[in-house]
Amino acid sequence: MKIAIIGAGFTGLVAGLRLLQKGHSVYIFEKEMSAGGLASGFKKKSWDWALEKSYHHWFTNDDKILALAKELNYKVVVKKPHTDILINDKILPLDNGISLILFSGLPLLSRIRVGLSLAYFKLLNNYKRLENKLALKWIEQWMGKKATKLIWEPLFYGKFGSYKNTISLSWFWARIKKRTASLAYPQKGFKNFTDEIVREIEKLGGEINFKSEVKSINSSKNSCSLQTPKNIFKFDKIICTSPSPVFTGIAPNLPQKYVEKIGIIQHLDALNLILVLKKSFLKNTYWLNIARKEFPFLVLVEHTNFINPTHYNNQHIVYIGNYLPKDHPYLKMTGNQLLKLFNDYLLKLNPNFQENLISVHKFVSSFAQPIVALKHSRHIPKFQTPLKNIYLANLDMVYPWDRGTNYAADLGEKIAKLLTK
Ligand SMILES: Cc1cc2nc3c(=O)[nH]c(=O)nc-3n(C[C@H](O)[C@H](O)[C@H](O)COP(=O)(O)OP(=O)(O)OC[C@H]3O[C@@H](n4cnc5c(N)ncnc54)[C@H](O)[C@@H]3O)c2cc1C
Repeated sequence: MKIAIIGAGFTGLVAGLRLLQKGHSVYIFEKEMSAGGLASGFKKKSWDWALEKSYHHWFTNDDKILALAKELNYKVVVKKPHTDILINDKILPLDNGISLILFSGLPLLSRIRVGLSLAYFKLLNNYKRLENKLALKWIEQWMGKKATKLIWEPLFYGKFGSYKNTISLSWFWARIKKRTASLAYPQKGFKNFTDEIVREIEKLGGEINFKSEVKSINSSKNSCSLQTPKNIFKFDKIICTSPSPVFTGIAPNLPQKYVEKIGIIQHLDALNLILVLKKSFLKNTYWLNIARKEFPFLVLVEHTNFINPTHYNNQHIVYIGNYLPKDHPYLKMTGNQLLKLFNDYLLKLNPNFQENLISVHKFVSSFAQPIVALKHSRHIPKFQTPLKNIYLANLDMVYPWDRGTNYAADLGEKIAKLLTK
């Protein structure tokens, strides 16, 4: 079969790889200049390793993606970096049972309730009965008002903004269930890893067209076609891996009912401001959750407290992360404007950071975080769309798991299997 894939993120790349291995002809269309999608990256001239536009790591139980790295003989770094939380005015460790027992941010009874609730989630395998419960409500009931007010409510607010009270408990369960203390990272960065997959695809005869935005797709009885600004191409089948709102925008013949149904799942954009510094920003912390509602960001991730700064010419890299609705004013601001806005809050965490600042980089990723609300599973689109020979595979479908390259790789495998059944 002659198969087109829209998108060279992990879903599209893995689908392409598997279809080629089965002997099909694969043509990938990617609107950007390089592969990787939400996990794409960049490399400054003086760096040996590339860096993701948004913070990225793997959990050590991310089986699918780690198996792919192994298959491609790609080296992976595994380390146990520190996760802390900013609570009141203190940065406190909070990344395992012992740190919870010692956690001075909560009274003993609250710590016991939090510990028991998290242990319950770690042991629980059947998430289905959690789907119709509201996460924050359940958390307040079982972990108590204090822990909710000091930790979870500010974190949910930072992550989901006005959607915070609509999030399903199954989303929270997946976050706790999946987390591992050790983290993995592809040597030389995710960009280098996706470039390696691209090389493998090309070696097998696949074609990847970068800077080729698909403007429309159509299907007829026996074939289907897609249009880029340059040409119209015919295929036996098309797989679209873009976010659902992009898919419905380029497929004009979709029935209105279908468009409305897959439009029920809402998304937030991700905003990342990257600071490149001469010196470390936080002492040892890799991941700092900000449990302070007045802070204009949700998380601060010091990448080089996980991956050695020697790979970046001894420069230190800090992400300041946010999830925001499309109309939020931050998304339109420049990196320097954002830095000015965040400045007073950053000074609270490191009073001397300005003198060490080398550069600032701002990245926005569209439709980066699906809102997992009650009854989410009912709204998940199917691979097969109402248009014959046109398939959809995107991050809305990895439920109950939160989006991740591991699940994108899994999705790519599954859609390839379906097409070759
Ligand atoms: C802030 C943030 C942090 C994250 N952290 C992690 C992490 O730590 N670990 C982890 O594993 N995952 C993480 N993820 C998630 C991970 O990046 C995604 O789940 C994964 O990359 C999704 O891959 P995908 O191929 O399904 O989608 P995408 O990466 O979105 O790929 C879709 C591709 O389609 C292209 N496209 C869209 N429309 C068109 C069109 N019309 N024509 C042509 N091309 C088009 C896009 O340019 C894109 O390349 C994070 C994501 C974000 C935003």
